[in-house]
Amino acid sequence: MATIITNGEIITASDRYHADIRIDAGVITTIGRDLPVTEVDTVIDAAGRWVIPGGVDVHTHLDMPFMGTMSSDDFYTGTRAAAHGGTTSIVDFAISFRGQDYDEVLDNWMAKARGKAVFDYGLHMAMTWYDTPDAKAGVLSCIERGVSSFKTFMAYKGVLGVEDPELFDFMRDMGQLNIPVSMHAENGSIVESMQKAFVEQGKLTPEYHGLSRPSGVEGEATASAIALARYADCKLYIVHLTCQEALDAVREARQRGQAVYAETCPQYLMFDDEVYRRPDFEGAKWVMSPPIRPKGHQDYLWAGLADGSLQAVATDHCPFNFETQKQMGRESFTKIPNGAPGIGDRMGVMYTFGVKTGRIDVHKWIDTCCTFPARFFDMFPRKGTIAVGSDADIVIFDPTTAYTMGVDKSEHNCDYNAYEGMQGYGSFDMVFSRGRLLWDHGEWKGSAGMGGYLKRRAGGAPELVEG
Ligand SMILES: [Zn+2]
Repeated sequence: MATIITNGEIITASDRYHADIRIDAGVITTIGRDLPVTEVDTVIDAAGRWVIPGGVDVHTHLDMPFMGTMSSDDFYTGTRAAAHGGTTSIVDFAISFRGQDYDEVLDNWMAKARGKAVFDYGLHMAMTWYDTPDAKAGVLSCIERGVSSFKTFMAYKGVLGVEDPELFDFMRDMGQLNIPVSMHAENGSIVESMQKAFVEQGKLTPEYHGLSRPSGVEGEATASAIALARYADCKLYIVHLTCQEALDAVREARQRGQAVYAETCPQYLMFDDEVYRRPDFEGAKWVMSPPIRPKGHQDYLWAGLADGSLQAVATDHCPFNFETQKQMGRESFTKIPNGAPGIGDRMGVMYTFGVKTGRIDVHKWIDTCCTFPARFFDMFPRKGTIAVGSDADIVIFDPTTAYTMGVDKSEHNCDYNAYEGMQGYGSFDMVFSRGRLLWDHGEWKGSAGMGGYLKRRAGGAPELVEG
C-alpha cells in the first residue's frame, strides 16, 4: 500500500524545502520532486501546507496511580488526544516502588499500553531502589527489554526517591552502559519541612503548594544531581526544568563540557504563579511539581530554548479532573493530586507562542518537540524526522489557521484545559502514524491498539514490537 504526499513544504530540525514523499508499508521510501503517482493507492495534496515529523513526547504519565487516584487518560485516550495535537510517539514512565520487582512493573506497564496505544510508544523505568543484587538484576533486565532510560527522584524520599550513595552507585553503572539518568530535581527534605510548617500555620490553599517548593529548592537539587553525575561519569537529563537557578546550573555544566541535558514543559513557559491565587480553588488546576514559577522565569526559559541550553520540550501530561479528583485537596494543598493535562496541547502551544511570536524559529520548534527527544531517547531515526527509511509519522500542518484553545478543542479525558480561551494558531490537518491516518481534519480515523512497543537500545535505533 503506497501513499504519496505531494506539493507540501517539508520542515525538519535542519531543513526546509518543497518535495513529495512516498510511503510504502509505513516507511518513507522516497523524497523528491514530482514523484510519479502511478501504482499508488492514495495521493494527498499538501499544497500551501507544511509537512513536519510527528511530535515526540518523552514525558507522559498515562493510567498512573498517584496520590490515591489515577491519571484520567489511559493509553487509548491519551495517545488519541496526543495525535489530535500532532504528536505521534511517546515515552511513558513505568513507576516502581522500593522493593517492587522491576520486571513485574514493566510487564504491568506493557499491559496498560498493549491494545490501547494508537501509535508507537517506549517506556522509561523509575529507579526507586538499587541496593540489592535483585534490584540490580532487575534494572539490567529492563535494559534487555528495551528500556534505555531511567528516571530517578531527589524528591519523595522513602517513596520514590533514593539516598545519594544508592543514586551514585546507580549512576556509575549506567554511565558504563551509556544509559542516561533522568532526574526529578527538587530537594525533598526542604519541601517536606516547608509543607509541614504551612500546614501547622493553617495555610492550606493551592497558593502554598508553590510557596512550599521555591525555585531555589529546584536549583539546589539540579546542581547536586549534576555533581553526582559528573563524578559518576554518567549522562544526565533533567526533566521538567522550570526556573532560572536550575537552568544556570545546567548551562554552567554544559559550558564545562559535561553531558547534561534538560527539558522544560509548555506550562512553565506560559504561566506564572498568579494562577495559584485564582479564586474558587481554581489554582488547583496548576498544582504540579515542580510548581508554576513567579514572573520572570518564563522569559528566562524561552531564552534558554532559543540559545540551546534547554534541548527538549515535553509535557509531563498527568491529568486529573477538576470537579472530582482535584477536589481531594480542598482541605489541604498537600492532598491535591499533582499534575495537569497537556499531551495534545504541546505542539500547538509551542507553535503559537514560540514560532509565531518569534521566540524560537520553526526548526527549533521541530528540534525541541520531535528530533532531539527522539535522538536522545534512542527512537531516532525511526521517529523524530522526515527522511528516507524513517517511519511515516507525519503531520500535515496548516500554519495559517486560528482557533480557540480549551477543553472543547482538546481531546484529553479531563474536564479542564490549562489554556482555556487563549488564541491558538495552526492546525494539524492530517496526522499519520507509520503511514496510517489517525486524524483527518478533526475526524478520528484511528483505532485502539494500532501502536507498537519501541524496544530501545542505548545509542542505537529502536526495534518495533507489534501487538
Ligand atoms: Zn512527570
